[in-house]
Amino acid sequence: MKNVAIIGSTGSIGTQTLEIARANKDINICALSCGSNIELIEKQAREFKPRLVGIWDEKAAKSLRISLADLDITVVSGMEGLIEIAEYADSDILVTAIVGMIGIKPTIAAIKAGKDIALANKETLVTAGHIIMPLAKKMGVRILPVDSEHSAIFQALQGNTHGDIAKILLTASGGPFRGKDREYLRNVRLADALKHPNWSMGRKITIDSATMVNKGLEVIEAKWLFDVNPSDIQVVVQPQSIIHSMVEYKDGSVIAQLGTPDMKLPIQYALFYPERRFLEGDRIDFWKLNQITLEEPDMDTFKGLNYAYEAISKGGSMPTVFNAANEKAVSMFLQEKIHFLDIYDIIRECMDNHKVTDNPDIDTILETEKMVYEYIESRW
Ligand code: NAD
Ligand code: MG
Repeated sequence: MKNVAIIGSTGSIGTQTLEIARANKDINICALSCGSNIELIEKQAREFKPRLVGIWDEKAAKSLRISLADLDITVVSGMEGLIEIAEYADSDILVTAIVGMIGIKPTIAAIKAGKDIALANKETLVTAGHIIMPLAKKMGVRILPVDSEHSAIFQALQGNTHGDIAKILLTASGGPFRGKDREYLRNVRLADALKHPNWSMGRKITIDSATMVNKGLEVIEAKWLFDVNPSDIQVVVQPQSIIHSMVEYKDGSVIAQLGTPDMKLPIQYALFYPERRFLEGDRIDFWKLNQITLEEPDMDTFKGLNYAYEAISKGGSMPTVFNAANEKAVSMFLQEKIHFLDIYDIIRECMDNHKVTDNPDIDTILETEKMVYEYIESRW
């Protein structure tokens, strides 16, 4: 039996993790948590009967306690609740399906409690990778990538030696605005940005894909997961999302992982690694798939990628500024308070105004996030 806890169980990754649990009877869901979707988490709790359920707001937790009173379930709330779920004694692995830097504290708590991490929550690694990776090593826990590109890289690394890697080829779909120029982007609406060509995902990451900030976050995520220099991570646009990423070795050999775009594959691989299991779904038909195209990304228009390379090369607290400014800007864009291109301007201005703190601890990272938020609120 594999005992699994999930933070963010009502979202895109969370619900797909539960689909894997439905199909694999040796998964026991022991703890679940969400932000505010009380109806769905109650349904999930009734179906999977975890011992611990968390919801962010204490008022919502009170009403969840009443509606789940017939079951033997403890309901927790807030950051304390998230940490309780992350550390839950009976769990073997924590799926971090929560969105944003709010995942930092629970992820660290889980690692300290000796849990493996199936990591979807990239914002945590982008901002605190320098703390998380050494801590995981010290605690002997595994950080198993759920992000499709990082799962592909992880799969392409199996059986090989770290020192033999020449570079990582991180693929990108290019998002809904691939091939468009700045003039076009000036007037795009929220609904256009939310139409991803290949993947159905949460709202925040869908906007990040449209700006290509997502690919920037993924460059930094790959740096931490695989211990490679950002200059050895090359982004390649692969519009059909069939090649999920590749690794080039020093002898010139390139190993890629391919598949139809389905997040259940990387989620399942992380949960059962190194075992491969049957997964229902479409297969690539190589007779019908008559082309796989590849392109160079347009980093002048989609500045998100450039800013990420700059943030990680400055290091210290700068990736936190890049990420926090983006989180705030995207939330404003989702509320239709700013235009699409303002997202880049906000990130740029926040990075320009920041003096880097080297090797920030968790308090400094969260303090930096707060300062970035306040700065944006005062300016926009
Ligand atoms: P989503 O918006 O669909 O779901 C987010 C989940 O987090 C929800 O369950 C929500 O209730 C929960 N949450 C939000 N605030 C919370 C809080 N304060 N306390 C507890 N729970 C809270 O997001 P998603 O698309 O599933 O993405 C989750 C993470 O996975 C992100 O970091 C994203 O970048 C990453 N990721 C997602 C995909 C994808 O296909 N969706 C692919 C790769 C990586
Ligand atoms: Mg990805």
